[in-house]
Amino acid sequence: MFDYLIIGAGFAGSVLAERLASQLNKKVLIIDKRNHIAGNAFDHYNEEGILVHKYGPHIFHTNSRDVFDYLSNFTEWRPYEHRVLASVDGQLVPMPINLDTINKLYGLNLTAFEVEGFFQSVAEQVPEVRTSEDVVVSRVGRELYEKFFRNYTRKQWGMDPSELDKSVTSRVPVRSNRDDRYFTDTFQAMPKHGYTAMFEKLLSHPNIKIMLNTDYHEIVDVIPFRKMIFTGPVDEYFDFCYGKLPYRSLEFRHQTLEQEVHLPTAVVNFPNEHAYTRVTEFKYLTGQQHPKTSIVYEYPQAEGDPYYPVPKAENAALYRKYKKLADETPGVYFVGRLATYKYYNMDQVVAQALTLFKRFEDESRQKAELERVALNVNKKVRVLNGTKESTSKNGKH
Ligand SMILES: Cc1cc2nc3c(=O)[nH]c(=O)nc-3n(C[C@H](O)[C@H](O)[C@H](O)COP(=O)(O)OP(=O)(O)OC[C@H]3O[C@@H](n4cnc5c(N)ncnc54)[C@H](O)[C@@H]3O)c2cc1C
Repeated sequence: MFDYLIIGAGFAGSVLAERLASQLNKKVLIIDKRNHIAGNAFDHYNEEGILVHKYGPHIFHTNSRDVFDYLSNFTEWRPYEHRVLASVDGQLVPMPINLDTINKLYGLNLTAFEVEGFFQSVAEQVPEVRTSEDVVVSRVGRELYEKFFRNYTRKQWGMDPSELDKSVTSRVPVRSNRDDRYFTDTFQAMPKHGYTAMFEKLLSHPNIKIMLNTDYHEIVDVIPFRKMIFTGPVDEYFDFCYGKLPYRSLEFRHQTLEQEVHLPTAVVNFPNEHAYTRVTEFKYLTGQQHPKTSIVYEYPQAEGDPYYPVPKAENAALYRKYKKLADETPGVYFVGRLATYKYYNMDQVVAQALTLFKRFEDESRQKAELERVALNVNKKVRVLNGTKESTSKNGKH
């Protein structure tokens, strides 16, 4: 009998497997329908020996020391700051938009102070910022919105930014300085030997058994377990009883080129041309030296593996119905990006898993305390009974 059956060997499932096995001595079976561990963060050496990310570029960044320290038990790190260029009006300019983006795009020589004035002069008044379009036009105006955001978002989501929740473009900052890093988090680094190597260590505890190429429907009625942790799509768990939660998918087209370097930076975004949104060159991310180079193109799709929960009010309302069912399902815990239908980064999923583990740990401590108290009470009752017996034998009342 397993203490826990964990569905999905991505960050959510693997972190919980590791904690439960190593800290609470639980016996864990973790399964995945794919033929590998590491979920969407899976990386591998391709046929040319170049380390690539199968499901698109995964860049680790976090402001949480707890998350970074926790993962550091399973990997060394390679310092890495991510940089992106966008192809706009025939030029490659820094993305997120910063001082250099504006100066290069318009052939200007503005200072940081002046560019802030420029943004204010072009920004549109929006009474209430609700949509992705509102976020951008209220900060940098319509022209920059059209050049950098509108078409990219339409390609990525298959919808106009005016139909999408503000959270989508709120993730992309606008800067009046020359900082061209994509992220500004305190910790920015890549696992030195890759994500899959880190997951191998996470899952190496002898209490953890791994079963790949297995959909949970195939084994859930056959393998005995006490509790389940589910990290797949929450609507699938409940047989889509309220209908399908919409996800956006991607097709990844990988390519290896007979040249050492292809792009001027790790990622180039194409907001306006091509059917793909961006191209990534992996060697920037991994630091690998190799005479050839591997890149990936991302083509957004309506159908396919569920990658991005679509942030719209009606989808959030549909998810709340599933969440209610999830909360009412005893012994099953829903965690991770698909199970909570939220656009989480890797560090946020690790934090979510560690928070759930803390709950298990507290429950286990409380249970142990109750058992200790019950044992003491039993002992006292036995002692009292013993005293009574010897008193009645002595004929006293
Ligand atoms: C293209 C792309 C780029 C990204 N880039 C970044 C980035 O740069 N930085 C960042 O921090 N985050 C990034 N993310 C987000 C990151 O991938 C997620 O935060 C992380 O993978 C979530 O982990 P998870 O365990 O919740 O889900 P997943 O990694 O999706 O793992 C869930 C697992 O469950 C398995 N599963 C599902 N259903 C079943 C079933 N019925 N039976 C058995 N197994 C099942 C799946 O096969 C999967 O392996 C990116 C995501 C995508 C799609």
